[in-house]
Amino acid sequence: MLPTRRNIKNAPTTSVKGGFPVYYHYTVGISGEKFFYGLKDKKFIGNTCEACDFTYFPPKMFCEDCFNELGDDTYKELKLEGTIVGVSKVFFDFRGQKLVEPYHMGLIKVEGSNTTFFHKIVDIENPEIDQKVKAKWNEDRAGSIFDLEGFTSS
Ligand SMILES: [Zn+2]
Repeated sequence: MLPTRRNIKNAPTTSVKGGFPVYYHYTVGISGEKFFYGLKDKKFIGNTCEACDFTYFPPKMFCEDCFNELGDDTYKELKLEGTIVGVSKVFFDFRGQKLVEPYHMGLIKVEGSNTTFFHKIVDIENPEIDQKVKAKWNEDRAGSIFDLEGFTSS
């Protein structure tokens, strides 16, 4: 018969001093690299599945609908404009601390894409669904999601 419960109250304790060196490189992958280099150059790069004519932004390696591989010839530059399809006001940071200046996050359907993109809405006091917006870039760009400051009135 197998024991169902172990008595660990009197078990000897042990410890190991030292650290666990973990080194790694994170890669965003082929389509992610095209997306982030695009942001650095103030461009929205998406791609279109030739089999089902579905356009992704950010771009994908494979179509999530029909699983078709999306090769190098599927990438294209999209307009820097879109429509707000969802919006939320953020009052707390990730640690639960109340923000001094709440801000809006938006779900944006970039023109020419069939997907939505989640990013900050800036310089709009009361963003609304179906409102047209355009990209607002940061001056210093390094191939990061923060190269895009957010979306503002178009
Ligand atoms: Zn497809």
